[in-house]
Amino acid sequence: MITGATRVAGIIGEPVRHSLSPALHNAGFQSLGLDIVYAAFEVPEGGASGALQAMRALGLVGLSVTMPHKQAVAAAVDVLDPAAAALRSVNTVVAQPDGRLLGCSTDGAGFVASLAAAGVRVDGASVCVLGAGGAARAVVDALGRAGAAAVVVVNRSAARAAEAAALAAGRGSVGDESHVSAADLVVNCTSVGMGTDELPVAASSLRAGQVVADIVYHPRRTALLRAAADAGARTVEGLGMLVHQAVLQQELWTGRTPSIEAMRAAAERELAARHQ
Ligand code: NDP
Repeated sequence: MITGATRVAGIIGEPVRHSLSPALHNAGFQSLGLDIVYAAFEVPEGGASGALQAMRALGLVGLSVTMPHKQAVAAAVDVLDPAAAALRSVNTVVAQPDGRLLGCSTDGAGFVASLAAAGVRVDGASVCVLGAGGAARAVVDALGRAGAAAVVVVNRSAARAAEAAALAAGRGSVGDESHVSAADLVVNCTSVGMGTDELPVAASSLRAGQVVADIVYHPRRTALLRAAADAGARTVEGLGMLVHQAVLQQELWTGRTPSIEAMRAAAERELAARHQ
């Protein structure tokens, strides 16, 4: 029940109505027994600093940030965590006790946490990251922080690949599809396979003994993951990253860990309702 004591958190973006974040976060706050509701705020490009002023004025519990505001929020908050500073991109705003706004980036750490939850270790691994967009950059940065031995970035546009590889704590390089089969871990961070049966790399590049992760989560079992399983590789679905980056956001806002199972179930229900 919403009362005068209920507090508000939310996400800013445009478009944002399709976001799974309200389903995830409301399930998480409920699992903690907290009187907080989480809403989606459609904020057009250019509106990020106004939204941050509103956050202060209204005493919002926290804000998630999605496109097109991630860079503008990084420039407008008072302080950045190390990942957000490296990426110049923020997906989480935290109101600190002294009133300053802290900008964080939980996408990459959420990806690494989703691997850990699946029993996959990054420390010492050789990784091939497909793609060099915003999500790929966050993943490369987090792989570097988590101790990956080597991170090879393969992308259609070579200039963007070099920029992403530079985020891997000095262990990044630019490669091509021939680097896929040697990697311990292959991560698809392109949008290829989203809502289609396309593969970001040839199925023949995948092999038994590898872990293949896809950050695309619609469909849950992407064509890449199906091809990887056929080749005998272990697979990790993209929904885990979405859930774990939100779990990390709730930890930042509340200092407590919500139920990962409740948040995952809410995301699964929401996805199933949309695509039946
Ligand atoms: P961007 O638009 O920033 O990057 C897209 C990437 O995909 C670029 O590397 C681009 O290459 C590549 N790409 C796009 N189309 C093709 C193609 N036809 N052939 C080869 N490469 C292609 O998007 P994001 O990084 O924000 O997101 C990427 C995907 O990750 C999306 O599907 C998104 O839904 C998913 N995602 C999942 C998350 C999760 O929590 N599971 C979180 C965030 C994103 P180029 O640079 O050459 O253009």
